[in-house]
Amino acid sequence: MPKTPLPPGSTIGILGGGQLARMLSVAASRLGIKTYIYADEAAAPAFAVASDRTVGAYDDEQAVAAFAGKVAVVTCEFENVPAKALEVAARAAQVLPPAKSFAVAQDRLAEKDFVAGLGIPVAPYAAVETLDELRAALTRLKLPALLKTRRLGYDGKGQVPIRDAGEAGSTWHAIHGVPAVLESMVRFEREVSVIAVRGRGGEIRFYDPVENVHQDGILAISRVPAAIPPSSTVEARRIAGAIAEALGHVGVIAIEMFEREDGSLVINEFAPRVHNSGHWTIDACLVSQFENHVRAICGWPLGDTGRHSDAVMTNLIGADIDKWRELAAEPGTSVHLYGKTEARPGRKMGHVTRLSPKS
Ligand code: AMP
Repeated sequence: MPKTPLPPGSTIGILGGGQLARMLSVAASRLGIKTYIYADEAAAPAFAVASDRTVGAYDDEQAVAAFAGKVAVVTCEFENVPAKALEVAARAAQVLPPAKSFAVAQDRLAEKDFVAGLGIPVAPYAAVETLDELRAALTRLKLPALLKTRRLGYDGKGQVPIRDAGEAGSTWHAIHGVPAVLESMVRFEREVSVIAVRGRGGEIRFYDPVENVHQDGILAISRVPAAIPPSSTVEARRIAGAIAEALGHVGVIAIEMFEREDGSLVINEFAPRVHNSGHWTIDACLVSQFENHVRAICGWPLGDTGRHSDAVMTNLIGADIDKWRELAAEPGTSVHLYGKTEARPGRKMGHVTRLSPKS
C-alpha cells in the first residue's frame, strides 16, 4: 500500500465502464487524476471521459495484468468482477476496495452471514442448495418469501417470490436450481440506503440517509432527506460504519435497508462501490460520492459529505431519455446523461436531480 497520497497527475484504473465509471472519471478529472478504464464492451459509456482504455474480457488474465501494470490503484464499478481478475490485478497494483469487500458482497449467503454475524438485523433466511432443502426451509420461514440466487443478482434479477409452499417446484425451476437463499419478506414502511466512505487510514464519513422507491425491481427515485426519525438516522450510520469497518473497506460503500413501522432497520444488502442511490450527492453536496471514492482510494483526505440542499433524484430509464429537452429546460434541475446510444427497456440512460432549499 503506498504510504503517501497519490499526487494529481496519477492514473487510477477502473474495472467496468458503465455510468458509474463514467461519473468516477469525471470526478477524478476535477482532482487532476486520470482514469484508465477496462471494460468488456467496445461502447462502454466511460470511455468518452477517460484517458485510456482496454476492451477485454474480465477473465482475460494477461489483459487485466497489463492494465493493472499501467496504473497506481485499481478499483471497480461493479461488485461481480471475477475474484481471479482482482487477484491478477493485485499482483501489479493496489486493489481498493480490498478483495474481501467483493467476496462477501458477491454471495448473498456470505453477505447475510457476515451482516448477521455482526449482530445487525437481516430478514430471516436459509441457505438452499436443493429442492428438498427449499421444501424444508419453507416449513421453517414465514411466507411470503423470496428465493434469491446467491450470485449475480441485481436490480431485482435472480429473485422469485414464493407465497405458498406448493410453489416450491416451480420457484426452484424459475431460478434454474442454482444455489440460493430463501428469505422472508420484510414488511417495511420505506426503503432507505446510506452511503459511507472509508479512507485508507480507517476514517469514515456518511452522507445523509436516502429514501428509495423501486419500480419493477429497479431504483426509480431517491429522496433526501429521508422521512425517518433522527434515531433511525443514527442507527443507519452506526450499521454502515460497523459493516465498512468489519470489512476493512476502503472507498464508498452503500448499505440498503428496510425501515419498519416501528423505525427499526433491517439490512437487505450492501454494494462495495458507488451507488445509484448516491447520485444526488453530485448536485446536493460539496463533495460527491464519486469524488470521495477517488479521494479514499488515492489516500487523500476525505471530502465534506454535508448536504446543502434537499434533493430528489429520478432515474431516466429506457425511453425516459426522450424527454431530455423538456428536462434540460426545467428550472432547479440538473440533467445527467450517460451517452448510451441504445435506449433498451429497463436500461439506465441517465438521471435528473431536482434541488430545493434545505429543509
Ligand atoms: P435486491 O435484489 O435484494 O436488492 O432486491 C430488490 C428489491 O426487492 C428490494 O429493493 C426490495 O424492494 C425488494 N426486496 C428484496 N428483499 C426483500 C425482502 N426480504 N422483503 C421485502 N422486499 C424485498
